[in-house]
Amino acid sequence: MLEYEAVIGMEIHAQLLTRSKMFCGCDAAVFGAEPNTHTCPVCLGMPGALPTTNRRAVEQTIMVGLALNCQIAETAVFARKSYFYPDLPKGYQISMYDRPLCQHGWIEVDDAGQPEEISRIRIRRVHLEEETAKSIHAGDHSLLDFNRAGLPLIEIVTEPDIRTAEEARQLLIKLRAILRTLRVSTADMEKGAMRCEPNVSLRLAGSSELGTKVEVKNLNSFRAVKLALDYEIARQARLLDSGGTVRQVTMGWDERRGQTAEQRAKETSDDYRYFPEPDLPPLRISEEWAGEIRDGLAELPDARRERFIADYHLSRREANTLTGDREVADYFEAVVAAGREVGLGPRTACIWITGELFRLLRAEGGDIDEGRITPQGLAELMALVEQGAITANSAKAVLAEMYATRRAAPEIVKDRGLRQISDRDALAAVIDEIVNANPEQVAHYRAGKATLLQWFVGQVMRATRGKANPQVATALLEEALAE
Ligand code: ADP
Ligand code: ZN
Ligand code: MG
Repeated sequence: MLEYEAVIGMEIHAQLLTRSKMFCGCDAAVFGAEPNTHTCPVCLGMPGALPTTNRRAVEQTIMVGLALNCQIAETAVFARKSYFYPDLPKGYQISMYDRPLCQHGWIEVDDAGQPEEISRIRIRRVHLEEETAKSIHAGDHSLLDFNRAGLPLIEIVTEPDIRTAEEARQLLIKLRAILRTLRVSTADMEKGAMRCEPNVSLRLAGSSELGTKVEVKNLNSFRAVKLALDYEIARQARLLDSGGTVRQVTMGWDERRGQTAEQRAKETSDDYRYFPEPDLPPLRISEEWAGEIRDGLAELPDARRERFIADYHLSRREANTLTGDREVADYFEAVVAAGREVGLGPRTACIWITGELFRLLRAEGGDIDEGRITPQGLAELMALVEQGAITANSAKAVLAEMYATRRAAPEIVKDRGLRQISDRDALAAVIDEIVNANPEQVAHYRAGKATLLQWFVGQVMRATRGKANPQVATALLEEALAE
């Protein structure tokens, strides 16, 4: 068995979030709309219809380019990419070829296996193009919905710097976080708003030559990317081991079977007969314009993670979890601010959010920013626990009720009578009863079976239905049993 190294490069598409389409005035909010209701002569590719460039889409592409550390072109040129397919009404797609908007950038990803290990993947280019229509295959015929045709689409191409399927998955997760932070795309893979086509080849470990690559399509989740690449890497290794050669083809991922299957021979750029789009002027990006866009960029996930580590003394892993999603990071900072007023630290906020709150949201299928549990509300609940007013266990139930009813924590605690019993006299009475009722256990304890203390604490908890302050109860029990 020879040792191989996988080499992966990806082409990623993401729909931009503009109000109108890329080259016409059609409303771009097409998700869920009745088919073919968001169309006009331009996006239907009628003869003689002329495109005009959506300025906001250009800005969003530059935002992505800057976030990916790219150089922004002074002049970018739209080009026609010709091919025939029913979902392409003009017979060509307006894209960019040799003069893209952004080039030569990089993105950093964490290798999930070793969270402290970071690799830098070079970005070859980011360009702007238009989305195709959507084919809906129904039995022996196909239907076309042109609502999607002409939506602005960015294409991001990486260099073949990715080495494992997991690294490819991590790159996509990071990219989604960046696109969402910039609010330029929902980057939702399940809904097709972000799609990726990885190219993968193998080479002998230690070699610096590139092997023949296979392109994989039909991946609509992070999980599918990981599974398909692992499958394809294993398939190519078996092929090479048995003396075969890899052919340059496009493979489709069959989700149900869990395997890749050959779709077609790969086109080369010659087949597309690229040439500059004669109906659109070249795009000129002045330094001032690029500078303005740069100044307006939101804080990006990597920078925010470093700030969280420095300012809030969180571990890298904790900071990563909180900054992977802008809404989560915003929420965390709001809880920290609210908690500061009642003396709570950032780590307490981190533990509550990534623990109980995430668990609850996962179970309920809810979003952190839907307003059911406000940052102030969570800080209030955390304070009740920290002050010893309620037990951590009661707090979980209170949180669930806050979520369901949107009521405030102190109100729920009062109604349900959850206030923790820390009062020594109240607890002493309960403890007296328990000690008197269990003479055998008392004798064993006094004879040296110290572990019985926990059993007694359990009895106190049972009698108070979990409301006893465990520290106070333990101390009182020790006193009572020592006699
Ligand atoms: P093509 O002309 O076939 O589209 P490109 O050179 O444009 O090929 O690269 C397309 C994508 O494939 C890029 O993401 C690139 O990093 C990746 N890639 C190129 N060569 C290889 C290879 N030998 N193995 C894996 N990925 C590759
Ligand atoms: Zn239109
Ligand atoms: Mg290419």
